[in-house]
Amino acid sequence: MRYSGFQVIKEALTGHKGWAPAWRDPEPKSQYDIVIIGGGGHGLATAYYLAKEFGHKKIAVLEKGWIGGGNVGRNTTIVRSNYLLDGNAPFYEFALKLWEGLEQDFNYNAMVSQRGILNLIHTDAQRDAFIRRGNAMRLNGIDADLLSVDEIRARYPFLNFENARFPIKGGLAQHRGGTVRHDAVAWGYARGADSRGVDIIQNCEVTGFRVENGCCTGVETSRGFVGAGKIGCAVAGSSGRLMSKVDMRLPMESHVLQAFVSEGLKPVLPGVITFGAGHFYCSQSDKGGLVFGGDLDGYNSYAQRGNLPVLEDVCEGGMAIFPMMGRARLLRMWGGIMDMSMDGSPIIDRTHIDGLYFNGGWCYGGFKATPASGFCFAHLLAKDAPHPTATAFRFDRFEKGRMIDEKGMGAQPNLH
Ligand SMILES: Cc1cc2nc3c(=O)[nH]c(=O)nc-3n(C[C@H](O)[C@H](O)[C@H](O)COP(=O)(O)OP(=O)(O)OC[C@H]3O[C@@H](n4cnc5c(N)ncnc54)[C@H](O)[C@@H]3O)c2cc1C
Repeated sequence: MRYSGFQVIKEALTGHKGWAPAWRDPEPKSQYDIVIIGGGGHGLATAYYLAKEFGHKKIAVLEKGWIGGGNVGRNTTIVRSNYLLDGNAPFYEFALKLWEGLEQDFNYNAMVSQRGILNLIHTDAQRDAFIRRGNAMRLNGIDADLLSVDEIRARYPFLNFENARFPIKGGLAQHRGGTVRHDAVAWGYARGADSRGVDIIQNCEVTGFRVENGCCTGVETSRGFVGAGKIGCAVAGSSGRLMSKVDMRLPMESHVLQAFVSEGLKPVLPGVITFGAGHFYCSQSDKGGLVFGGDLDGYNSYAQRGNLPVLEDVCEGGMAIFPMMGRARLLRMWGGIMDMSMDGSPIIDRTHIDGLYFNGGWCYGGFKATPASGFCFAHLLAKDAPHPTATAFRFDRFEKGRMIDEKGMGAQPNLH
């Protein structure tokens, strides 16, 4: 069924009896051409593009829980492509371009909202760094705009401009950045992949790999063995645990990152703001809640939940820049497990085992990457060659010293 305004009106007038489930609930088959492990945004997008762009038919996505239960449904929904370094800039701009056409492409309302993102400047040194980043973005064909204090005040009059530990001295804006309804992205990709024949199998945990003569021929799962010509791993925060089953030690750590939402308020915050001096970022959801976050937990963990010390730290950051938020009540908070790579940039690469491919190391930035990550991983799986925008995301960059060390990323929270 194609979703449209006409369909909504027709169903409204006929008692909503015609809606079909958005995807099937198939039993796993014994053999597929390609198996993707992980039904998060990246795994589902990979399956979607494999079927749609690369013509593959026999594909399964194996998800240990339910789709959207991982980070794709836990993030703060910010999308942007304001990166400095050559290895990252074309890739994240490719992602933003895919976001711009995504809803039409997969026929699902993902509430893509290019409301703009603003990085606040608080020191002269930070201004220099942001001017450099803005210039690099423009050289890469990406929009960037340096805003004066007056321009920021006109849009965000409630920020703490003068009476603050870190007074605001300007900001770098990317007007094409914004937010996207995160779980709708998982649902849209799932529906699009399913309609092209992809089997999305939930409650199916991969517990091991079958490797014969240096070649991966399938996976052991909680629902039996599933054979595959190629296997793509896209399990985000569980990457270390999964790849340890083939004795791979990744250049990655798992940390918890938390998010917070206030009670619903009338529209107050028109775009996304980030407060670099204190590490706090905030947007307002279409339901009215202020959605905000800050640093990740400073120690390794697989606990998918929040805690009070980080809540206090993040709220202090918020109050420093945005004092009126102290009047709002906090509604809820949660945590997700981040796959933090050592240089803050991702990996989309083959492994040393034939037939086994890896996608991970997304750190804080994986949601915005989702469409490009899926497209580039599908390209790698289909053609055995990296997509032109993802050539730098290789395992061997750590061995060869070609790190993509983007500031503000990476596993060491104190070095942001
Ligand atoms: C609080 C928070 C805020 C964030 N904010 C932003 C943001 O504003 N902007 C941004 O760009 N990024 C943000 N991120 C990062 C982003 O959400 C992630 O980098 C990205 O979602 C990771 O990719 P994914 O969607 O595929 O991961 P996930 O949704 O976590 O998918 C991985 C899936 O693999 C499954 N899995 C794990 N092990 C197995 C197994 N053995 N067998 C089968 N399945 C398995 C998991 O159940 C999970 O569903 C945030 C993350 C968090 C936690």
